[in-house]
Amino acid sequence: VLACVASQDSFSRKEDSHIHGLSEMIVGVLGGGQLGRMLCQAASQMAIKVMVLDPSENCPASSLAYDHMVGSFDDSATVQEFAKRCGVLTVEIEHVDVATLEKLEGLGVDCQPKASTLRIIQDKYIQKVHFAKQGIPLPDFMQIDDLEAAKKAAELFGYPVMVKSKRLAYDGRGNSVANSEEELSSAISSLGGFNRGLYVEKWAPFVKELAVIVARGETAPFHATLWQNICHIVKAPADVPWKIRKLATDVAQKAVSSLEGAGVFAVELFLTRDNQILLNEVAPRPHNSGHHTIESCYTSQYEQHLRAVVGLPLGDPSMKTSAALMYNLLGEDEGEAGFQLAHKLITRALNLQGVSVHWYNKPEMRKQRKMGHITIVGSSMAIVLTRLNSMLKEEASESE
Ligand code: ATP
Ligand code: MG
Ligand code: MG
Repeated sequence: VLACVASQDSFSRKEDSHIHGLSEMIVGVLGGGQLGRMLCQAASQMAIKVMVLDPSENCPASSLAYDHMVGSFDDSATVQEFAKRCGVLTVEIEHVDVATLEKLEGLGVDCQPKASTLRIIQDKYIQKVHFAKQGIPLPDFMQIDDLEAAKKAAELFGYPVMVKSKRLAYDGRGNSVANSEEELSSAISSLGGFNRGLYVEKWAPFVKELAVIVARGETAPFHATLWQNICHIVKAPADVPWKIRKLATDVAQKAVSSLEGAGVFAVELFLTRDNQILLNEVAPRPHNSGHHTIESCYTSQYEQHLRAVVGLPLGDPSMKTSAALMYNLLGEDEGEAGFQLAHKLITRALNLQGVSVHWYNKPEMRKQRKMGHITIVGSSMAIVLTRLNSMLKEEASESE
């Protein structure tokens, strides 16, 4: 059992110092979305107390957390107040008030991963500059401050190009494709213009998108997982030759080793036609592409993250099932109609073997919003895909 971290002055945080689980530390999580919720689920197995900070009273993690402080993870006073009640701070979203975390670290507060890591990652342009400096292969990119600069960058890279917001991006919502010079200005305005900070990226002609989850401290060779679009489906293990798996894992580990702090990191990669691996971005936390690890691996990404941030030994990340697939349940419609559609699919899923349903309990259903996910495991990918097809085929299961 771990002792509580030595703490300072007002940031001493253990009112109740009795041993209550595998760690005495209260783990403070900035953000209470689905990733926070699944962290709480993993924590409960080990009797680790997780407190979440999230502005929404009924955020997904709220009902499962040891405690929920309602407030913004982007507000300095709130984050400082929250820190006083936790033994270690971590995140389930990178868009947090990093200046405050840096200040808290200066006062001795334990942040895992480190604020320096979050600072690099929360601005995708700074992130790209950082990884390029480390010699990590990635698509060419260029900051743009006006339309002329955008045109120059696109001419240099060739169309199509990807215009990206530097900050606050998620689910591809900070990206816009320009196929030609004529489309550049509308791509830029669809991202809110230059005020938010934009950069242009060369198109990565990928044949597959891979994600590697790396746990900090000890190499955790989570199987590279293959995913498509906005993480709609993830397949594990990825269907790539051994050499590519090794290359992807090496690039991922190199990227993570250039960042500071404990935790799991998800490294999103492109596999190009000519078998190059290019880095897309890194998430300093559990990731959508690792949901399947709950059912498919000995140690899930959530348990691994907790072990890492409280200083427990890391677990075995290898797969315990031959094949797994994760299917994101995205909102298909607003409100009640959306719930009805999701309910139909979930009911079909519940009738199948090897299926686990996760519903995040988000208070509102919105189109394209991640409302839950379904993991399917099986003794081969062919079996898993057959189960997926039965789940998606309306008529088939209704006549069953
Ligand atoms: P996330 O939800 O993963 O944080 P995000 O909003 O940060 O997403 P990105 O990961 O930058 O967005 O991009 C989303 C998707 O857009 C990628 O997974 C990939 O399919 C596509 N994409 C991004 N950059 C490029 C590129 N340079 N060339 C081609 N496709 C790209
Ligand atoms: Mg991102
Ligand atoms: Mg991404």
